Amino acid sequence: MSRMSPGSGAANVWPITQQKVLFSLFGNVEELIGVKLTDRCLMMPIKSVSGVFFPNENKFESCQLCPREGCVGRRAPHDLALVKKYWGESEE
Ligand code: SF4
Repeated sequence: MSRMSPGSGAANVWPITQQKVLFSLFGNVEELIGVKLTDRCLMMPIKSVSGVFFPNENKFESCQLCPREGCVGRRAPHDLALVKKYWGESEE
């Protein structure tokens, strides 16, 4: 299984503003599980996690598309070939 979360990886992978769309699928998330979105689409309480899991043959991590250096949470190396596959040469 692989996973993706709004706001994880480069900004254009799955924009954090999509949190609103994801949350809208479940109704009143705050009432259901006590998690709410701030105006900037951050989740409260902090350390909450949102996203989707999906099956695929090649293990995928958003970190592969993320250029951030020195991230202590990195789960996979930045993969420039994968970046080019999705966005072409302009995203280097
Ligand atoms: S490298 Fe860090 S900032 Fe980038 S997607 Fe992975 S955990 Fe998030």
